Amino acid sequence: MSVKNGSCGCGNLKYSIDGEPINSLFCYCKECQILTGSDKWFGVWIPKDNFKIVSGSPVIFTRKGSSGKDMNYLFCEKCGVTICAEVTVGNFYSVAASTLNNSNEFVPAMAIYTASAPNWAVFPEGVPKFEILPPNLGA
Ligand SMILES: [Zn+2]
Ligand SMILES: [Zn+2]
Repeated sequence: MSVKNGSCGCGNLKYSIDGEPINSLFCYCKECQILTGSDKWFGVWIPKDNFKIVSGSPVIFTRKGSSGKDMNYLFCEKCGVTICAEVTVGNFYSVAASTLNNSNEFVPAMAIYTASAPNWAVFPEGVPKFEILPPNLGA
């Protein structure tokens, strides 16, 4: 299996990913806009067992996702960067692609919650858009 590594902005938190993601997407929901200071979050979905914190210990912020189940955001207490969200309803982590050491590892397969996008949002060409969450994803 191929191992990929990433870290927060200051290097306090480091993580590794084993294997391939189950999904990769741009999320334009309001929460992601606030979180990223941008129009979207680029999340790479990694099964829980394949994601490991290898250095540092993250602070956790929990909110309810659209499913009503917890979304646990792991962020660095020093630099404030969120490295991932644990999506408890799906038993996976949505890892912030921006925190991967190699930003070119993945490309988005879809764009979700585009109905919540601001009017200055930028959408990738040729990537399927969904106004909310596609029904088969359930996160
Ligand atoms: Zn940090
Ligand atoms: Zn979102």
